[in-house]
Amino acid sequence: MEKFKCAGCKIVWRAIDLQPIVGRIEERVKAGETMPHGECSACGGLCYVLTFPIAPKKKYNHAYQMAFEVVSKHENPDDITEREVLCGLLLRVAGFLEHENDTLQACEPYDMYEM
Ligand SMILES: [Zn+2]
Repeated sequence: MEKFKCAGCKIVWRAIDLQPIVGRIEERVKAGETMPHGECSACGGLCYVLTFPIAPKKKYNHAYQMAFEVVSKHENPDDITEREVLCGLLLRVAGFLEHENDTLQACEPYDMYEM
């Protein structure tokens, strides 16, 4: 249910409790100002719809892991260079661009937190 707050005494009212605005509205509300909904039953001040700040939308950070292959001449993985790993990773990602359906199958979420 909408509530209305008096700009004068700050009392919050239900719509049914507001009084009609008496007098010339243009003398009490200037052009461009928010239109009041009625007068305060206590002090006669103008009452405006009470708005609540919009809660920011929650965001979540999801960590994913992905497997990919590195083809090299090295038997020992310790000998594989950073550049060879990068090439393997890029080839895997390039494959996702050709076969989008593979992306969710190859990438697995393993952690999440609210930001
Ligand atoms: Zn009031």
